[in-house]
Amino acid sequence: MLVRPLLLLLVCATAAIAGQSSQPLDEEDLSIQAFLQAVETSISTTDRQRWLDLLSPSADRDQALEFFDAMVPQGITRVVVKERDRTALDGALPGEGFTLVVEVFMETGARGRIATWRLDIRRPRGDDIGRQPWRILSEDRLASIEGLHRLALHPEKQFTAKNLVLRAVDFELRMPSGDVFVAETPEGVTAMVLLGDGVMAFQPLPKEERGQLKLFSGGESLETPFTSAFVRLNPFEFDQRLTKDMLAPATLDSRVYRRALGEFDENLPKSFNLDLSDLSRDTWSLLPQPGDFVAEVDTRRFDDITYARSSGEAEDVTLFQRARKRNIAAYASEQKLQSRGRFFDEDDLVDYDVLDYDVDASFYPDRDWMEGRTRIKLRVKSSTLGVLTLRFAESLNVSSVISDEFGRLLFLRVRNQNSVLVNLPTPVARDFPMTLTVTYAGRLTRQSIQDESLDLSSIARRDEFVRGATEAPQRGGQPDDIPQVPPEPKWLFSNRNYWYPQNQVSDYATARIRITVPLEYSVVGSGIADPGSPTAAPAAAVEGSSRVVPRVSYTFNAVQPVRYLGIVISKMLRVDSATVALDIVPVKVPAPDMRGTGTLAQQINRLSVAVAIPPVGARNTVLLNVDANRRQETRGREAIGIAADILRLYASLTGDVPYDSITLAMVEDDTPGGHAPGYFAMLNNPPPVQPFSFRNDPATFQGFPEFFLAHELAHQWFGQAVGWKNYHEQWLSEGFAQYFAALFARERRGETAFRDVLRQFRRWALDDSDQGPVYLGYRLGHIKGEPRVFRALVYNKGAAVLHMLRRVIGDEAFFAGLKTFYAENRFKKAGSDDLRRAMEKASQRDLTRFFERWIYDNGIPRLRYSIAVEGNELIVRFEQIGDVYDVPVTISVTYSDGKSAEFVVIANEATNEARFPLTGSVRAVDANQDGAAIAIFEKK
Ligand SMILES: [Zn+2]
Repeated sequence: MLVRPLLLLLVCATAAIAGQSSQPLDEEDLSIQAFLQAVETSISTTDRQRWLDLLSPSADRDQALEFFDAMVPQGITRVVVKERDRTALDGALPGEGFTLVVEVFMETGARGRIATWRLDIRRPRGDDIGRQPWRILSEDRLASIEGLHRLALHPEKQFTAKNLVLRAVDFELRMPSGDVFVAETPEGVTAMVLLGDGVMAFQPLPKEERGQLKLFSGGESLETPFTSAFVRLNPFEFDQRLTKDMLAPATLDSRVYRRALGEFDENLPKSFNLDLSDLSRDTWSLLPQPGDFVAEVDTRRFDDITYARSSGEAEDVTLFQRARKRNIAAYASEQKLQSRGRFFDEDDLVDYDVLDYDVDASFYPDRDWMEGRTRIKLRVKSSTLGVLTLRFAESLNVSSVISDEFGRLLFLRVRNQNSVLVNLPTPVARDFPMTLTVTYAGRLTRQSIQDESLDLSSIARRDEFVRGATEAPQRGGQPDDIPQVPPEPKWLFSNRNYWYPQNQVSDYATARIRITVPLEYSVVGSGIADPGSPTAAPAAAVEGSSRVVPRVSYTFNAVQPVRYLGIVISKMLRVDSATVALDIVPVKVPAPDMRGTGTLAQQINRLSVAVAIPPVGARNTVLLNVDANRRQETRGREAIGIAADILRLYASLTGDVPYDSITLAMVEDDTPGGHAPGYFAMLNNPPPVQPFSFRNDPATFQGFPEFFLAHELAHQWFGQAVGWKNYHEQWLSEGFAQYFAALFARERRGETAFRDVLRQFRRWALDDSDQGPVYLGYRLGHIKGEPRVFRALVYNKGAAVLHMLRRVIGDEAFFAGLKTFYAENRFKKAGSDDLRRAMEKASQRDLTRFFERWIYDNGIPRLRYSIAVEGNELIVRFEQIGDVYDVPVTISVTYSDGKSAEFVVIANEATNEARFPLTGSVRAVDANQDGAAIAIFEKK
């Protein structure tokens, strides 16, 4: 799931320069500080002679002057020079020469720029050159950020609004009268404060967005009074967005100005803002790009609402409620749709593609501490790249980022954002290969299970809350006198806690993971365990004592690409291991797709990747391991046989097993659930004594205890091997996992159990479809904070839709289409459209309407039906009231002698009639008794 656009732009586009830790200064530090002071003086006075005085006699003076003139602007008002890195100069005696990396922040009035320079300095021998002995041998600019503005609300300009109207896509601020203040750059007005009684209007064009807005505000469009608004815009667009007669100059009222200033100071840092840490305490802003627009609106009814148009994002229009962190709307404008088409792939927006991760980290469970180093092999995707963004847990402090190509690189942390911005010394072009090594250490808290997983803990918490304070929270409804056994601790690090530096979105890459832990712990990770893993590792000293902790290292190789890496650390033992024979009939795989690969080198590369990955259906076995907490050993032993059956079923349905080995980690938790990265599935089991209490949730199925296991294992195929292009497509992961689990229920427990599951799918789909289309992904239930809605629709309705699709096109076409869809999208991100095409190919039918109605829309068909018997024929007539859907309906006939028969009618017109032969006298006829059709039926 990805909320990137909003988070990046709005929540905190605040970058902090990575400062160095303060340590006592020695003589060398003091002399270098004096040198930097002299550099600062030469810049602040714009004095070329002072700069020349700093040069070594052997330096190139012309080049140095050219550098100075290019770097130092006229009219400089303030400069700060900070040392960021110091390494010994090549060929110099120890302490006699250094390569410094410095950051130089220069202000010219309200304008600012940051540059990073490399300065090679040397202490000339024998010369008496006073207090500051260092001289510059050579200098170079490594990176720079220009166009920073220190914005201020103009203290002498006040306007009276006259029927002011400010428009952006589907959005309007109207203020018939009121006061307006502005902040300007030399280019024009870039910020405004509006004070007065106004109206904010938001009318999203897409139907599903109107539906979400209705859930939020009660109406499909929003018109709500506001008392103040803060607006950011591109200065060149000011005249287009406002006409001159809307603003009349007024005399300054200092009381009103102070109120405006309060709004300005509060809202300015929220967007387009950099925090320069030790370079400047001021708020420095960037200018919005043309077309970009942000309004922070203080409404009377909904508190602060943020509207943003961000032209660079795939969904460029957003409405956000900051205080509750709710995305109310996020969609593509008409203009954006014209340029990108209806569907998008989050990968189209990423700057680079990671090919391989090599993670080597130690974890200390007693203090939640991780330290490590990750090597990332990547290839640049954007046409040119100057700053590379890594996603990485903010609590892990980065000590260095080094590239094989450029050496040590400068980086910034973005506050509250789990991001590292890495500055490249020079922009690099598409296909440029890079290897980065990131070194880090810090506290890392475990992740709760979410995404590719079932997490019922939010429901458990809510139920406890509802039960109230008079009753102590109980687990599983046990009487009070039974001692509670706490679950065995475990640490799950996966897609949510950014425990290794990674691409901004999930990115298929191969990997090697080495995790070192205290001896009593073990690790299950994404990949095949190295032969001989675990190996002995150097013992760790315990702080403040002479004790040492013996440690071991676990190594995993993900030789097939994985979307992200996961590990779980707990006190586990290997319970069992088996090679499972699979029943795989290989499908024909198309040759590697060469479209979009321009050069021969790219084609060879694409081919060599294709060669490294075994073709779909190439394996006929999979190694299945079961690791478990000691108290879960018995459950683990029981699970291996069931898991083997599940793997066999899924392999036969897809014609493949994506990985050479799959490990089941049986751990303990108070709530049921699981998590499934590539190569393993973690399954929560109740600690001894108290069983889970299964509550009323879309993800629990009475009479099917293997459900979690079956669901999580299905994610190896759907969710992991086949990914999803963006958050809209998550149902491809959860819907298939749910449907495969249902298919396993049928195989293991029979048709009755299967139909029980189908009926639950239907009930949840009927109950919650009014909350929006399946295609909204995580946003279902998001506005009201109801994860249950998300599971009801993305999981259960998604699965029910797959079952209806199967019935509409028939088993043969469905399972053939399924294999094709899997084969074409293995180790890629897929979209609903890819599934539609695969199923259309297999069935030779147009499935446009099927997907429009069931995935992109959220209506429920209403079917009126009548049943008649004519002679030996049963006649069934369906009439669809309203929009026509493709609905497969089971007709169950019970004969007088107690025998029964079933027929299927595909209702797909305004009226359908079907005739079936009867074999006896009829006692009863029912429609949709199996619950397979999501529809409301009325018998005439
Ligand atoms: Zn799942």
